[in-house]
Amino acid sequence: MLRTNNLGKRVRSSDGELAILEGVSLEINAGESVAIVGPSGSGKSTLLGLLAGLDVPSSGKVLLDGQPFSELSEDDRATMRSRYVGFVFQNFQLLPGLTALENVTLPMELAGDKLAKQSAMRFLERVGLADRSRHYPRQLSGGEQQRVALARAFACQPKLLFADEPTGNLDAKTGEKIKDLLF
Ligand code: ADP
Ligand code: MG
Repeated sequence: MLRTNNLGKRVRSSDGELAILEGVSLEINAGESVAIVGPSGSGKSTLLGLLAGLDVPSSGKVLLDGQPFSELSEDDRATMRSRYVGFVFQNFQLLPGLTALENVTLPMELAGDKLAKQSAMRFLERVGLADRSRHYPRQLSGGEQQRVALARAFACQPKLLFADEPTGNLDAKTGEKIKDLLF
C-alpha cells in the first residue's frame, strides 16, 4: 500500500541546512498497523507528513498504491489524499466555526457524496456523539473533539489512516477510549 525509498527531508535554517530525515525506506501492507516510535524531535511528525502527502521529501520517493505520490503536484496530491488518506492529529484540528456534524460532513461533501450528511451522522453515532452533533468544538471536551476527528477521518473510508500522537493531549483514561475506538 505504501512504500518509501531512501526518503530524506532537509530544511534550510539560519544555521545552515538541517537534515531531519535521511535514508528512510519502509513498506506498509494493506491491513497492517504500524507504530513509529522515537523521542521528541526525532522526526516522527515530519515522516508522517511525507507519508500522507502533506509535505514533499527533499530526496527519495513515496509510492502510494504503486503511484509516485510524492512526485505529484500539490493539487494532484490533494485529490489522492481525499481518496486514500485519513489523518488524526494530536490537537484534533477541527474547524472551530463548524459544528461536529458539519466537521464530519465537509470532507464527504468535498468528495461529492450526495448522502454526506446522513453518513456523517452514522459516523458520529459510532463514536457515541449523536446527541452532540450540533455542538461546536469549543463546547466539547478534548476526548469528545478527538472522537469527532476520528469520525471525520473514517468518514471517507480511507485506505490509510495516519494518527500523530492522537492521545497526546488527553488524560490516560480518555486516551485508552480513543485507542479502543481507533483500532
Ligand atoms: P517529532 O514529531 O518526532 O517530535 P518532528 O518531525 O516534529 O519530530 O521534528 C523533527 C526535527 O525537525 C525537530 O528538531 C524539529 O525542530 C525540526 N523541524 C521540523 N520541521 C522543521 C522546519 N520546517 N524547519 C526547521 N526545523 C524543522
Ligand atoms: Mg511530532
